[in-house]
Amino acid sequence: MGTSVPRRLAVLGSHGIPASRDELASAASAPAAFGSSGWPRLTDTLGRRYTYLRLSVTDRCDFACVYCMPPGGEAEHAVRPELLSFEEAARLVALFAQLGIDRVRFTGGEPLVRRDIVRLVELVRRQSGVERLVMTTNGSRLSELAHALSEVGLTGVNVSLDSLDAGRFAEITRGGSLARVLAGIHAALDAQLEVKLNIVALGGLNDGEAARLVDWAWSLGITPRFIELMPLGEASNLSAERFLPWATIASRLGKRIAPEQAGAAVAGQGPANYVFASDGSGRKVGFITAVSSEFCGSCNRVRLTARGDLRACLASRGAVSLRDALREGASDRELAWQIHRALGTKLPGHFFTSAEVDEHEQVGMSLVGG
Ligand code: SF4
Repeated sequence: MGTSVPRRLAVLGSHGIPASRDELASAASAPAAFGSSGWPRLTDTLGRRYTYLRLSVTDRCDFACVYCMPPGGEAEHAVRPELLSFEEAARLVALFAQLGIDRVRFTGGEPLVRRDIVRLVELVRRQSGVERLVMTTNGSRLSELAHALSEVGLTGVNVSLDSLDAGRFAEITRGGSLARVLAGIHAALDAQLEVKLNIVALGGLNDGEAARLVDWAWSLGITPRFIELMPLGEASNLSAERFLPWATIASRLGKRIAPEQAGAAVAGQGPANYVFASDGSGRKVGFITAVSSEFCGSCNRVRLTARGDLRACLASRGAVSLRDALREGASDRELAWQIHRALGTKLPGHFFTSAEVDEHEQVGMSLVGG
């Protein structure tokens, strides 16, 4: 761990970085409070507090879902030297933990295609001390890895599953095997991982399956979550009929959820709001209403890409390379300053419905970590 000030920080002045807590507190991003370790917690100029890190570990995937990745993959996939090493990723997560992050989600691409992913999870757990470690996965390799991941500290998986029809599943994922994913879900349950389903609702493709997916998930004790299609990257090329607002999806669930409860949805720890089953069983359905009812005002997440770029917002291409700073010898204090500074420029929302702003259409989901 070096201590010299990297070239990229020289523009900050003769000190290069804030030399004390007081200086950091009065900096542009104005952290509101300090954690027990004495580091300023991550907040932005709008008062949003950041506690959730989405850590992408690869930009590659063994599927190419129609709303996520172009057929044949992205043009800009990282080559190995560009990826954060396990040691670099673990060091950065440990730093984020000191800044108030208490939940880390491993994402991709598909995180389970990163070689030795179990070792990375173990290293992050040990080095950062973060206990809430979860993963978003397409599930195709879960049957081989679920138990090992659970043993090293992973606590839950969100598995993407948009259809229970093998043909439609292959169409949406461009070749994925439904049987492998279902086997993976059962392996995750067997390994005592908390399992949630992520379902991207696609008008004219899988919306007729909404009720079936809920019944199937509930039969296994799994909470299903419907995600509104967002106009990011590949998804921005889909026709308008593919987009379904959450209220339309909810209406497809019939009496499984009480309509009057829809307005009383409860927030989860992430972006989903949950509506309870009308039978009083306590079962839930989640809705991630990123387009019809944006939740940016309560955003609590930051993203670190597989290349080590800090992305303050999913909808923006703005990035700060923590990898470059780290490889130039930045100290933790210098890295912390860069992280605070990046959040200081974060916009209030995603502008998905703006006619003037289309930056989000250039954001490849698999490159950023979804
Ligand atoms: S679009 Fe940006 S600001 Fe809105 S919730 Fe997502 S990351 Fe946060």
